[in-house]
Amino acid sequence: MAIDTTGEWWSGETAGDIADYLEELAPGGYPVDEVVESRCAECSGTVFSLELDPSSTCARRTCGGCGSVAYMLDSEEYWMDGDDGPQTIACSCGATCFETSVGFNRREDREIRWVSIGLRCVQDGILGCCADWKIGYAPSLHLLDRT
Ligand SMILES: [Zn+2]
Ligand SMILES: [Zn+2]
Repeated sequence: MAIDTTGEWWSGETAGDIADYLEELAPGGYPVDEVVESRCAECSGTVFSLELDPSSTCARRTCGGCGSVAYMLDSEEYWMDGDDGPQTIACSCGATCFETSVGFNRREDREIRWVSIGLRCVQDGILGCCADWKIGYAPSLHLLDRT
């Protein structure tokens, strides 16, 4: 385990540490059964800037390598353009570039119950979870491919 828990914030050395962080955090009070790393569909890049809509339950990422924008999970369907959004995610150090991974909690029938978006700041390694929300419908397994 390469996570440094001695500081005020948890930090990690690699994107894989986001999985450990989400498993420990258990967003929404649910265990994380599966973690999928985000990867740009255009250039395979793994560093992104992230925005949340005003509801904070929709997220989209912009690839730091090629600039292509992707909505995460079901965010494209539910995205709200409010007066006070979107909000750009920034680390406590001020940086806005992250490696990201999505955590999934599954129901007994294997459908998805809860999703969470984990981050690792590429500047200082600080780990965080910028959003998590409930998935209240089925089928839902297509979301595993929208990280
Ligand atoms: Zn890209
Ligand atoms: Zn940082």
